Amino acid sequence: MFHFPIQNQALKLKHSSIELVIKREDLIHPFISGNKFRKLKYNLEALKATGATAMLTFGGAFSNHIAAVAYAGKTYGVKTIGIIRGEELATKRKLNATLEFAQSCGMQLKYVTREVYKNKMNPEFLQELEQEFKGVYILPEGGTNSLAVKGCEEILTPEDAQFDYICSAVGTGGTIAGLINASQKHQKILGFPALKGDFLQEDIRKFATQKNWTLIKDYHFGGYGKIKPELVTFINNFKKAHQLPLDPIYTGKMLFGIFDLIDRGYFPEDSKILAIHTGGLQGIAGVNNMLKRKNRPLIEV
Ligand SMILES: *Cc1c(COP(=O)(O)O)cnc(C)c1O
Repeated sequence: MFHFPIQNQALKLKHSSIELVIKREDLIHPFISGNKFRKLKYNLEALKATGATAMLTFGGAFSNHIAAVAYAGKTYGVKTIGIIRGEELATKRKLNATLEFAQSCGMQLKYVTREVYKNKMNPEFLQELEQEFKGVYILPEGGTNSLAVKGCEEILTPEDAQFDYICSAVGTGGTIAGLINASQKHQKILGFPALKGDFLQEDIRKFATQKNWTLIKDYHFGGYGKIKPELVTFINNFKKAHQLPLDPIYTGKMLFGIFDLIDRGYFPEDSKILAIHTGGLQGIAGVNNMLKRKNRPLIEV
């Protein structure tokens, strides 16, 4: 039921012996993050196997995961429910692009306060939700569980064994765990967290079967969703140079980091690097709205 027409795109780097190739997971769908679809594949199969009739999950107002679940639900005939962080959103006259899209796919949105949202992993809270929405299959925030990791293991193909480094943006850690599990021993997996915090290491270890990975924590730009002008400039220049769009929450920060590390001589000469473009392009509209309000330069689309 899923088709992943993925291609690897080599970038031309000036004055460097390093080979940098982008895996275009963003091409899976113009609006749905590549890795979020990967995470759903086996979860949708499990949902059908258990006889559940709806999928319930959690996310913020700009969540790529919420958009992906809503779209998958529409495509595969599964009812979807989104528990959305931020009660204030319920009273807004106009939904943002992400929630508008989710709703147009038929997702039922339930807004909760930030306080209530914090219980998203709490078994009692989950039980309450199961009571309220009968027959639901619950997926955690960001879509990460062991079935999601299994789906992300399919990102790498046998030909990718030629690379020395595999790079990925990191949110909840499910995607990088899949990459780690599917990698060869000689490969090094580098994760670029899009958020601050030390909990990630533990989260990844829960799912990872190998130890050939490192988190590079210097490129979150102040935290999740934080956008600095130099990042916007980088994304705009990158698109002009390589005809390749990046999102400002995940892939833009990762590639900024990779280019900076290349400049600093982090990678040995002749290294072959594969960077996963996990998608996320649907988030640009929301970020641009925010930048516009602050009178700051926009991401060119
Ligand atoms: C969610 C997301 C990530 C992070 O994936 P995790 O499995 O949560 O670490 C990376 N890139 C994009 C575009 C995403 O939407």
